[in-house]
Amino acid sequence: MSDRHAELRVARAAVRAAARICRSVQETRIDANTIEKKDKSPVTVADFAAQSIVCRAIQAAFPSDLVVGEENADELRNDAAAGARQAVVEHVGAELGAAASGDEVLGWIDRGGAAGDTPRYWTLDPIDGTKGFLRGDQYAVALGLIEDGEVVLGVLGCPNLPSPDGGRGGLFSGVAGGDARSYALWDDSDEIGSRVSVAHVTSTSEARFCESVESGHSNQSESAEIARLLGISGEPHRIDSQCKYAAVARGDASIYLRMPTRADYREKIWDHAAGKIVVEAAGGTVTDVFGRPLDFGHGRTLEENRGIVATSGAIHDDVVSAVRKVRGE
Ligand code: AMP
Ligand code: MG
Repeated sequence: MSDRHAELRVARAAVRAAARICRSVQETRIDANTIEKKDKSPVTVADFAAQSIVCRAIQAAFPSDLVVGEENADELRNDAAAGARQAVVEHVGAELGAAASGDEVLGWIDRGGAAGDTPRYWTLDPIDGTKGFLRGDQYAVALGLIEDGEVVLGVLGCPNLPSPDGGRGGLFSGVAGGDARSYALWDDSDEIGSRVSVAHVTSTSEARFCESVESGHSNQSESAEIARLLGISGEPHRIDSQCKYAAVARGDASIYLRMPTRADYREKIWDHAAGKIVVEAAGGTVTDVFGRPLDFGHGRTLEENRGIVATSGAIHDDVVSAVRKVRGE
């Protein structure tokens, strides 16, 4: 397998550009009333602008590659969305350092409309953890590359994640069969980064676990029961977005549980591709709640999986056993 330097370089640059856009929207446009009342909220502006800039970068570097992105530009084309459209175009132009036309910016967003039915494609969540973004908490820009149903690399930008130097922001990459690395998010010149690896935890009672802030996205009473069964006494770390995968990859936590809240919900590939490969490359293990590998061979969703269990590795079987017991299997 190639070492993927070209793809990684493009993915890091694209995610950094998207993170800068998100940060500038968050600094200047976040206002609860605007978000509640207007059709096109500031978060939507950031979602669209981030998807546009990432798809543009992929198109420029790999013209034949398709992208499965969370957003599409249809809503932005309505007359009622003229203000939001203008804001998206301005944010993308500011990041590019050159004016872009509305058609170009919307066209790049539309490049994220692939179905995921080709042998190779990227998957993008321009803002994962929208609710965290709105609260000023954690969110992530997540970009993964899939080939023949397998995630081969992923890059996660985490603009609000505490960094080792006391600031905020982290950029993480993972490569299948390679390593996981952490880079300065706001410094494009950091192209080497440093290796990250999971916590060395051999007994579940030493583990810290994390889960979604949103009880609608993960069954928190079930995970509390699982934690008790595993002898974990500490409180769960509730973190929005794929920052949970980053937390496991760098050893802040050693378990991420995502317990299904609805039988009919299917996890989206853009919510997990980048995070899963970052954790695996850092030495961890990621499966669904049955202990099955995540199967990225079914288009836009993880059709054959339910929920997520990500761990630092050595404890994975014990955690899956506890999950199955609590779920009554
Ligand atoms: P988190 O920040 O971990 O709560 O995850 C945010 C993601 O949860 C969003 O990007 C949604 O795609 C996804 N989501 C929405 N509804 C559900 C649900 N019922 N179960 C699991 N995930 C969901
Ligand atoms: Mg998401």
